[in-house]
Amino acid sequence: MAKPLLEFTDKGIYCEQGKFYIDPWKPVDDAVITHAHADHAYWGHKHYLAHHLSREVLLYRLGEIELQTVEYGETVMKNGVQISLFPAGHVIGSAQIRLEYKGEVWVVSGDYKTEDDGISTPFEPVRCHHFISECTFGMPVYQWKPQVKIFEDVNSWWQNNVDNGVATVIVGYSLGKAQRILQNLDLSIGKVYTHGVIENTNEALRRNGVILNPTERITIDSPKEEVRRGIILAPPSSVGTPWMRKFQPYSFGYCSGWMAIRGAKRRRAADRGFILSDHADWDGLISAIDATGCEKVYLTHGYTASFTRYLNEIGFNAQEVHTLYGDDEESASSPAEGEVVEEKEKALSPGEDLGEAKEESAI
Ligand SMILES: [Zn+2]
Ligand SMILES: [Zn+2]
Repeated sequence: MAKPLLEFTDKGIYCEQGKFYIDPWKPVDDAVITHAHADHAYWGHKHYLAHHLSREVLLYRLGEIELQTVEYGETVMKNGVQISLFPAGHVIGSAQIRLEYKGEVWVVSGDYKTEDDGISTPFEPVRCHHFISECTFGMPVYQWKPQVKIFEDVNSWWQNNVDNGVATVIVGYSLGKAQRILQNLDLSIGKVYTHGVIENTNEALRRNGVILNPTERITIDSPKEEVRRGIILAPPSSVGTPWMRKFQPYSFGYCSGWMAIRGAKRRRAADRGFILSDHADWDGLISAIDATGCEKVYLTHGYTASFTRYLNEIGFNAQEVHTLYGDDEESASSPAEGEVVEEKEKALSPGEDLGEAKEESAI
């Protein structure tokens, strides 16, 4: 039997025919990158290929790299293997990687969500023979509400804080969640202030031509009263730091898919938990996998064991695979700058969080 087009190696997902890796976690010569989150876009590869809208964020996070970017649907050939990128709907610039060789089609999903968030190019199902899917939230307990509902809650909480004279701090990771929140805030209530890590990411995206609502970087000179009437966008790593305590008295809201499980809000000492995720929920995962029409589906990061078992039970041919992809719902980071290193150190480790989620769902 011929070797499969993609293999799971200790460096990442490998295509021997094309001599490239997809989202490798160890340094390689040729890397195709699904999106710019730290657990998918590592430093140290000789050559990178990614979507055009990931360009500036990758350069900001990884420094000077050799980077080729393409549009969705554009084809790049590597030793007979046709590579093209399709929207994953996860964050701005995120892509599924489609590979075709001698009539056989493989798709690597990267991270994805099926709801249109209004800012990332919406997820597009791609027909294939072999589909490699994430399953971060592959448990029936994870069912997302439409984001319009979530943002109604966010905006009325913000208005309420203004009425009560307390500042509003909202936490979400710096690439993806922060911009999604930003674009859905009711700016008639007040101004949007940003933590440095988030503002740097916003600036990178704006350099890339993305149009975002206006934001103002928080500094020591920011007028206190105006900040109190505004909303402060902060990354997960800022929770419980002196930086955040400066805004007292404040109400602190946390946006994450993990907020769907009991106790998550309390553990992060949040006043409000908003269930908002950039990953597909249970129904989203199953409908996305089904829409590919694939013969075989491979499950990476998340509840791989139980989700794989379930898929096999309902008639899919599913297999669990091991990768090092983590949980960007909690850890957004870039090694490029001092403040970012600080962010990384303070962020909860992905493993810790998945463990926590598993522990919780067992209760
Ligand atoms: Zn991601
Ligand atoms: Zn991921």
